[in-house]
Amino acid sequence: MVEKDPSVRVRFAPSPTGMLHIGGARTAIYNWAFARTMGGTFVLRIEDTDPERSTEENTQIILRAMRWLGLSWDEGPEVGGPCGPYFQTQRTETYQAALDKLKAEGRVYPCFCTKEELDAKRAKAEAEDGGYAGYDGTCRCLSKEEAQARIDAGEPHVWRIAVPRDRGTIQFDDAVYGHMSFPAEAMDDMIVCRSDGTFTYNFAVVCDDANMGITHVIRGDDHLSNTPRQVLIYEACDFPVPVFAHLPMILGPDGHKLSKRHGATSVEEYRDRGYLPEAMVNFLALIGWSLDGETTIIPEDVLCENFTLDRINRKDGVFDETKLEWMNGVYIREMDADTWVEAATPWLAQAYADGVRVDAGVTMVPTPAKEEQEERARQTRVPGDGVDVELWQKALAHVADHPALFRAIFPLVAERLVRFDEIPAKLSYLFWGPNVQLDEKSVAKVLTKDGARADEALAICREVLAGLTGDWDEDVTMEACKAKGEAAGLKPKQLFQPLRVAVAGNMVSPPLFESIKLMDMADVLARIDATVSAVF
Ligand code: GLU
Repeated sequence: MVEKDPSVRVRFAPSPTGMLHIGGARTAIYNWAFARTMGGTFVLRIEDTDPERSTEENTQIILRAMRWLGLSWDEGPEVGGPCGPYFQTQRTETYQAALDKLKAEGRVYPCFCTKEELDAKRAKAEAEDGGYAGYDGTCRCLSKEEAQARIDAGEPHVWRIAVPRDRGTIQFDDAVYGHMSFPAEAMDDMIVCRSDGTFTYNFAVVCDDANMGITHVIRGDDHLSNTPRQVLIYEACDFPVPVFAHLPMILGPDGHKLSKRHGATSVEEYRDRGYLPEAMVNFLALIGWSLDGETTIIPEDVLCENFTLDRINRKDGVFDETKLEWMNGVYIREMDADTWVEAATPWLAQAYADGVRVDAGVTMVPTPAKEEQEERARQTRVPGDGVDVELWQKALAHVADHPALFRAIFPLVAERLVRFDEIPAKLSYLFWGPNVQLDEKSVAKVLTKDGARADEALAICREVLAGLTGDWDEDVTMEACKAKGEAAGLKPKQLFQPLRVAVAGNMVSPPLFESIKLMDMADVLARIDATVSAVF
């Protein structure tokens, strides 16, 4: 059992410039799981200071993705809290107050150097030995009176931190990377407030983290280079420096930084493809963290009792979608039928909508090439897309009105389903009514092949099925077909493959008699008859 520390306060601080990406989601999960393990507080802060890219819509997308993953925050947008507001754009006064204090203490100075002057200095330094070492401190040497006079005269200026000349190396112990040390010479007097009065990113983040009492800053290692600068700001403001934990990158299977090239990168895309939030959280938690080096299925309650920073891996993690699929399958199998129907409703409705849209009678459909199948599996398919509103409403109502039917479907697919977006293709045949969509390859292999005797097989099965009354049993029925088939010299496979194709359209449908049981027998017989007259 990990010892609790309720004083722990962590935050996830996304910039709402787009979707919640896989890397951001993992950062959020680590903060959340650490807060829960410690019995501390998880803060959500929206860093919306980029006016061009930050939108309200993006904020909502991020909040929605967080909620879908089940990452509840204790303080932040919508829930509020004692350290609000939780949007950076609404915190300007706090940055101003921090700046005023720094001014009063003489820890910042106004800098009047123009962009042209700075550019010229940089160009000159770069042309000489040693290169550019940051701002040279010209305005640091101005007397107080002169600086004030120039401010009073309305001369544009920024405010820079006066980094103590004897500061020495900047060191901190990163909870993941260990002891870090940066030479002070590499840090110039950084700007905290721009000439238009806006505050720089590093200054705002430090003020927020300090004012929100953040004890541990857990974030992507793309921020590692900001950290020594932030340490200097903490020191200038007399704020306590938090513990930093920088998270290694997430790489695609090819060893390059995970990007759009590798397929879906946002949490929403994975949701639309039918991954379960529980599986996503488990999977993402394990990219760069481990419970004991071997356990792979780690449910939320275990994660939230055992997440410690010392088990974060220093090596970059790899996003392995095959593992995610496998894990999703594990979580699906563990569901009960009710939960499954509820979670899978949009895809079940899609299966219904696809099913009832099948053309009347018999249609032949070309077998998709393997690559095409894979490509289709990779595509995001939002359930309901491509279905008219009326049919979609009908489909949703059909699922809602037949809970027992849909619960009974679950055991047919539970064993092999790895994503919900496979449901429509796997199950739409249940809703074809009397119509059939025949897969060309299956027809050639099972029905029309020389010596298959599929017409005889279908006649035998049809006769048994047509004779059933009341609550028939799958096994008994199968045995009855087998006995008749055997008498006619047909092996079980020769008998049932044709039936499978005639009823479900191809050779790979879920368990046959269990499926038939869930369908209207008149429809099943009509499909057999239609197939026979179309094929033979
Ligand atoms: N807003 C920053 C980002 O989205 C995070 C800043 C931080 O965690 O310190 O990358």
